Amino acid sequence: MNTTWEISVWGVRGSFPMADRRHMDYGGNTSCISVRSGEDMIVLDAGSGLIRLWNSLKTEKELHIFISHLHMDHICGLFGSPFLLDKDRIVHFYGPAGLRNALKAAVRPPYWPVSLKEGGAALRFHEAVSADAFFHKVGDVCVSAMNARHPGGGFLYRLDGAGKSLVYALDYEADGQETDLFIDFASGCDLLVWDAAYDAGAAHPGWGHSTLEDGIRIGRMAGVGRILMSHYSWEYDDERLHAMEERVREKKDVVFAREGMVFEI
Ligand SMILES: [Zn+2]
Ligand SMILES: [Zn+2]
Repeated sequence: MNTTWEISVWGVRGSFPMADRRHMDYGGNTSCISVRSGEDMIVLDAGSGLIRLWNSLKTEKELHIFISHLHMDHICGLFGSPFLLDKDRIVHFYGPAGLRNALKAAVRPPYWPVSLKEGGAALRFHEAVSADAFFHKVGDVCVSAMNARHPGGGFLYRLDGAGKSLVYALDYEADGQETDLFIDFASGCDLLVWDAAYDAGAAHPGWGHSTLEDGIRIGRMAGVGRILMSHYSWEYDDERLHAMEERVREKKDVVFAREGMVFEI
């Protein structure tokens, strides 16, 4: 069976949310993308874009949120969610070991007036000590992981199911040997969500991020269908991102993520 996946982009920014006029075209919220497969909603990261997703939910009773790592730009959407306070709902969190304790330590007073705790939505935590040990199924979708090359570590995710596949590779610095591992991991996927934090020649080695050109080169080596650029540096305004996008306009397999974008694979 070949099911269509609906991909929604809720946040595209890296490191910090940006709320000024110069970031309105691509969007200023931090990382959050959802994948709807049939009745199931899979969420990739809980950056400030998650607030828009929460507000769009109507009948959903259950959410599956895969957290790549605990840097604040990937969890700040967990503060202040009415969904998390609703006793009728279930939220599954998936991610690296320590996820449960870290989220509970972060989402509570004095950092926020309301704690992430039992009493609202039922919370289920699914952790793995290493990416090799990570495997979960949500409906027909199988989710596996690879360790990210990023300060403090983290997981990249691969979703496979019903003839579709997606690799989520934000907060990942492509480099040498690990690039070979990554090419195996992403091999043949329909959509690669790529960390295009930086423009060519503007990379910061050791900061744990990649460039637009890395994504095109590696995505093609892995034989992926489309490459969705995201996690743009907070310093890159619309003018700079327009220039980057214009430069690769001829490449039909490259898509620049914008908040509010919805498409199917
Ligand atoms: Zn990030
Ligand atoms: Zn990070």
